[in-house]
Amino acid sequence: MKIAELFYSLQGEGSLVGVPSVFIRTSGCNLRCAWCDTPYASWQPEGAEWSLDEIENEVESHGARHAVITGGEPMIQAEIVQLTERLRALELHITIETAGTVFQPVACDLMSISPKLANSTPEGSYAAPHDRLRIQHDVLARLMARYEYQLKFVVAKPDDLEEIRALAETLDAPAERVILMPEGTEQAQLAERGQWLAEICKEEGYRFSPRLHIDLWGNRRGV
Ligand code: SF4
Repeated sequence: MKIAELFYSLQGEGSLVGVPSVFIRTSGCNLRCAWCDTPYASWQPEGAEWSLDEIENEVESHGARHAVITGGEPMIQAEIVQLTERLRALELHITIETAGTVFQPVACDLMSISPKLANSTPEGSYAAPHDRLRIQHDVLARLMARYEYQLKFVVAKPDDLEEIRALAETLDAPAERVILMPEGTEQAQLAERGQWLAEICKEEGYRFSPRLHIDLWGNRRGV
């Protein structure tokens, strides 16, 4: 499996924010978000081929109780089911961070689904395929029915809320499962957007998520 990076850090986003976790970042993505913060796992996928044994050994060496499989898009990986089964055998809590466009019967304790809003659509030749793929209602419904889940949205402007409300309603997702996170990779920008986003969360009953890793360490790899 092509791995962009494997590291030990704190979960920076969502309902498990702050939990020490080992991160397995698979390389390759079926979307091309304009603001992608890990282009080295999507637009220009980097990394090396790791065997499942190598991944398992490296994960074990960190002694974490939580594992986060992220990307890129981990659900497009051919060996993703086997990888999750190995992590399950290690008795790790498994979070999978996915855009929710592909279903695979993985072992997973928290399906962290981040459907991509219209604000993610890039310019140029990727715009049309990205737009066609970014919301797959059937896949989202299947993931939500099978797994403990959270719906985590990246919000760039207050107007994004309309799309979030509509999707949550279509998917019949209760407000407590919806998490809003400001878009950005700079601390000042996150702080500014966080101000109005916090008010939206209070009004709607959605949960606010910081981007803790950016707050603590800035926009760097391996954190
Ligand atoms: S789905 Fe995630 S990894 Fe893929 S392009 Fe969008 S932000 Fe980047």
